[in-house]
Amino acid sequence: MSEFKNNNIATKLIHGGISKDELTGAVNVPIYQTSTYGQTLPGQHKGYEYSRSGNPTRKALEELIAELENGTNGFAFASGLAAISTVLSLFNAGDELVVSNDVYGGTFRLLDKVFTRFGIKYTQVNTSDLDAVKKAINGNVKAIYIETPSNPLLGITDIEEIAKIAKENGLLSIVDNTFYTPYIQRPLDFGIDIVIHSATKYLGGHSDLIAGLVVVKNEELAQRIGFLQNAIGAILEPFDSFLLIRGIKTLGVRLDRHVSNAEYVVEELSKLEDVKKIYYPGLETHPGYEINKKQASSGGAMISFELTEGHDSNKLFESLKVITLAESLGGVESLIEHPASMTHASIPKEIREAAGLGDGLFRLSVGIEDAKEIADDIITAIKNARI
Ligand SMILES: *Cc1c(COP(=O)(O)O)cnc(C)c1O
Repeated sequence: MSEFKNNNIATKLIHGGISKDELTGAVNVPIYQTSTYGQTLPGQHKGYEYSRSGNPTRKALEELIAELENGTNGFAFASGLAAISTVLSLFNAGDELVVSNDVYGGTFRLLDKVFTRFGIKYTQVNTSDLDAVKKAINGNVKAIYIETPSNPLLGITDIEEIAKIAKENGLLSIVDNTFYTPYIQRPLDFGIDIVIHSATKYLGGHSDLIAGLVVVKNEELAQRIGFLQNAIGAILEPFDSFLLIRGIKTLGVRLDRHVSNAEYVVEELSKLEDVKKIYYPGLETHPGYEINKKQASSGGAMISFELTEGHDSNKLFESLKVITLAESLGGVESLIEHPASMTHASIPKEIREAAGLGDGLFRLSVGIEDAKEIADDIITAIKNARI
């Protein structure tokens, strides 16, 4: 941990972890582009032996994310899914997980197509419904895995209650905090055991890298995850670790703008009769509004909305000028996507539609461009999509 013990996250973003180079005074941690380190005698070295097990640039990032999430140990991975795979490798054949029902599509695919082959089962429930979570717990369940807000319907789950249910039943609690980042929400503060990030999104923030992070607040868990990180080897490279530290420095200013832009776009979209429903946790009419307010500092910058019938989605995409049609989210540029045919296409149609992800649903990652230009762009496109 750095000597900079400031509780204000805006300051921690810049000075947290190892924020400068002790050797030269450089205000940025250098990119230690090395695979190995010289030893004076076997086992006598300066704390680094081989870059899969440890690298100073990655270490600086890992200490930074640990500090931002109020955890004790951070771990950096080659992607969000590499981070999730490593966490899922904590479990044994015969173990079961209770998982949010509109979990990230890639997480569902990993559970459904890979880890089930190793005998790890999952049950999906609406984790906003705490009774449903309790009912899903049987003798084989070892963990509760949630996303809040969830993706793409932005459902809110009570983090503190999930942590409590997990503790009462001797389970691990895991939160994928990608959509909010520690700037908005810090699940470990509510008793959660493991926080996961796809740092590809807001933490990186510029749509120029793929990375994943894990944070814990418990020595024993830290040891197990550190072991798996080295044993599996899906680590983040020094250059991407540097880029991610660079991105995190501006997380606060970016998110302030992302969120105020999102609030403006929501307000403008809600005036449009073509829009049947808006999913945004910062809206007072959102069913999770009060719980979100308790555990997060805002509603973030992801919006999903459903159009009334009689719109051609291809026409909508073709008429966009500011917003880009693309998967992913959390970058400075506004992105729109169509869950049914893009990010959530790997979920079988019946399950997808039952979860509320119909063909009229769009997900918007509101960027930091001019708020009015973003809103005008999407509204004009919706109007042009009328059949
Ligand atoms: C993107 C994403 C992931 C996967 O991360 P990658 O970096 O693409 O591997 C996991 N969870 C959520 C919520 C995501 O948005």
